[in-house]
Amino acid sequence: AVQLRRLNKHYGEFHVLKDIDLEVAQGERVIVCGPSGSGKSTMIRCVNGLESYTDGEVLVLGHALAHEGAALSRARQEVGMVFQSFNLFPHLTVLENCMLAPVHCQGVSRAEARERASHYLDRVRIANQAGKYPGQLSGGQQQRVAIARALCMRPKVMLFDEPTSALDPEMVKEVLDTMLALAADGMTMICVTHEMGFARQVADRVVFMDEGLVVEQGCPRQLFDAPVHERTRRFLEQVL
Ligand code: ATP
Ligand code: MG
Repeated sequence: AVQLRRLNKHYGEFHVLKDIDLEVAQGERVIVCGPSGSGKSTMIRCVNGLESYTDGEVLVLGHALAHEGAALSRARQEVGMVFQSFNLFPHLTVLENCMLAPVHCQGVSRAEARERASHYLDRVRIANQAGKYPGQLSGGQQQRVAIARALCMRPKVMLFDEPTSALDPEMVKEVLDTMLALAADGMTMICVTHEMGFARQVADRVVFMDEGLVVEQGCPRQLFDAPVHERTRRFLEQVL
């Protein structure tokens, strides 16, 4: 579903992504972890064109990602993203937040957008809050709305960048449960997280990044229980 080939990115002199090769198959769940500043966010933002890159190739569903134009907007529709901060529009209700992009970016009728929104709000078990404003919801509820909003675009791939790290501990589980349900439905997912229990439950593959490199990757058991590289071991000692 997603292929990164020899992806490189520089910020001026700073080499932030170094020859990243990553293939994510349809239906695969990949967890990305690594120390702060290792390039995790930068890498996944390259997948939906939020970030430009210096060199290499990004393929989404077989199409090369362009830096602009129709190909970029298609990729953005096929790839949903959920951030650490929920980024909901505060002046719109939950329902309106979910209807906005399908209506404006996909030309869906308001009636259909409303139906989709109700469907996905129901799936994240928050349909009863549809008329509220984001500020009236808890962090966990807001993040579930953000997930529903992304799903309303009917993406083929979902990207998550530390979706639970801004939440109070008691709200982490409800968001992880929502993501588990999405994984059980077969959604292709790339998720940056330090929730290692979740990674063990859901991941087909865990990718460890450090200093702009994919240092090592493997199934959770292999990576967590028998890491090959010293850097991976040191990182895991700190988070497990
Ligand atoms: P964290 O776990 O803290 O979220 P990360 O692995 O997601 O870290 P990135 O946000 O991808 O890391 O950043 C990778 C590196 O790129 C960092 O060293 C950061 O300082 C640098 N960086 C990020 N954005 C910019 C920018 N706009 N200009 C210059 N350097 C940047
Ligand atoms: Mg980050």
